[in-house]
Amino acid sequence: MPPEDHSKHKHTKIDAAGDATVNLARALVKIPSITAVNPADKPASARSIDVIADYAAKSGARVERSEYSGGHHKWDYPVENVYLEWTFGKGENDNGQPAKHICYIGHLDVVPVGDAAKWTTQPFDGEIKDGYLYGRGVTDMKGSVAAFITAIEDAVQDLKAQGSVRVSMILTTDEEWAAVNGTKKVLEWLKKEGQAPDAFIVGEPSSQDDLGSHIKIGRRGSLVGTFNVAGVQGHAAYQELFENPNRALALAVAILSSKEWKDGNENFPNTNFETVALKSGDFGASAVIPGKAEALWNIRFTPTQTPDSLEAWIKDALANPPEWAKSHPDADKLKNITVTANKDTASQPYYSEPANLAKSAQDAVKTVLGTPAKLDGSGGTTDGRFVANYFPDAEIIELGLPERGGIACKHHKPEDYLTKGGMHQVDERAAIDDLVNLRHIFKQTLVNYARAEETAPAAEKGAPANATGKPKHPAPRHGS
Ligand SMILES: [Zn+2]
Repeated sequence: MPPEDHSKHKHTKIDAAGDATVNLARALVKIPSITAVNPADKPASARSIDVIADYAAKSGARVERSEYSGGHHKWDYPVENVYLEWTFGKGENDNGQPAKHICYIGHLDVVPVGDAAKWTTQPFDGEIKDGYLYGRGVTDMKGSVAAFITAIEDAVQDLKAQGSVRVSMILTTDEEWAAVNGTKKVLEWLKKEGQAPDAFIVGEPSSQDDLGSHIKIGRRGSLVGTFNVAGVQGHAAYQELFENPNRALALAVAILSSKEWKDGNENFPNTNFETVALKSGDFGASAVIPGKAEALWNIRFTPTQTPDSLEAWIKDALANPPEWAKSHPDADKLKNITVTANKDTASQPYYSEPANLAKSAQDAVKTVLGTPAKLDGSGGTTDGRFVANYFPDAEIIELGLPERGGIACKHHKPEDYLTKGGMHQVDERAAIDDLVNLRHIFKQTLVNYARAEETAPAAEKGAPANATGKPKHPAPRHGS
C-alpha cells in the first residue's frame, strides 16, 4: 500500500484563534504565574486570578477572592485564591433541599520554565503552531481551567432546564509547591460557610497520551524518609579495624526493596518502596571507608496503608529481617540504622467509590470522543487528597488534558513526543483539538450529572453507598 498522503490532512477542524477556550487558555498562559514562593512572583499570581474572576463575573458568577498565609512553619508565603459559584434556578430543589452542587478544583500557578534555552517557543508567549497551544502551564492546568469555565457557558440552557443546580470552581495559585495555603484553606472556608458540594472534579491531567482515556477516582499517597548509618572512617585495606556504613545501608535497601506488595486492585497499583538517592563516600578517594552513609526513599502507597503503618513496617523489617538477610554478615548492623519518616509532610491517599459523577463523565467521553474512559488511581498526588478530609461524602473524579500534551494530529506525531512537550517539561503544549474536546466533555459531564437521579438524600448520607456495604470513602487516614 502506498504511504498515505498527509500533506492535505488538516491538523484541526476548528478556528483556534476564534475559539473561546483557546483564547482564554492563551490569555492565562501569557501570565508567568510561577508559584509565588518568591514575593516577586506574587503580582503574576494575582493577575491570573484577575483574568478568571473577571471572566466569571461577566457570566454571572458569585466571586469570592481570598488570600491565605501561615499554613506551615517553613512555607509562609501569602497565596491568592478564588471561589466562583453559579446558581442555575433557585438554589434548592422542590423539597427545600440544597440544589445539587458540583465543584471544580484547579490551579493557576505553574512550575518554572526549566532550561529556557531548550524551549522552541517563548514559554509565556502562548504561541499556536502545528495544532498546539504552547506555553508553561497549558496542560498543567490552565487549559483545563479555561475548558471548564467555557463549558459552564455552553451548559447554561441545559442546566437551567434541570430546575436547580449549583456549579462552582475553587482556583488556587499554590498547588505546585507547598499546597498549604491554597485548595485546603478554601475547602475549609467552604465548609464553614455551610456548603457541602455533592461532587468534585479535579481538573488535573488524568490520562497519558489520549484525551479521556482515563478518569482518576483516587490517588496513592506519598511518604518520604531517610536511613542514616554511622560508620568508622579508615583505610580500605584494614577493613576489620573500621566500620563500613555502606554495607548495612545496602542490606537495608535490599530488604525493603525486595518486599512484594500485593495491596493493589483494579484501581490502584501496589504500594512501592523506592530508594531515590544515596549519599556516601568520595569517588575521588578509592582507599577510604566512609564514615557515614545516607539513603533517601519514597513510598507510594495505596489507601490500605498509612504513614504510621509504613514507618512501623520499615522498623520491623530492619529489626526482624527475612531469613535470607539473617545469614548476611552485616545483619546485626541493621539495628544501628536511624530511620526517619517525614510523616508531617506525607500526602494522604484517597479513593472515591465511582457513582453518578464518574458515570456522567464516562458517558460524556463516549458521547464526545466515542471512546471508553477507564477509571483508575495511578499517578502522582493532587489536591484531590484534601477533599475527602472536608467532604467525606462527596464523590471525586479527576479529569483533564493528556499529561504528554496530546497528539494534535496522529499522522504528524511530533518526533520529540516523549522527551518534551508534556507537563513540567520544556515546550509544554496542549493540542487545540484536546482543549476544545475537553470543553465539550466538561459540558456534557455537567449536563449528565445534573440530570442523573438524586443520590442518597442528606439524612442517609454517610450510610453505606452500595449493596456491598462498602462506605463511599475509607475512614480518613491520619498522619501526624
Ligand atoms: Zn497540576
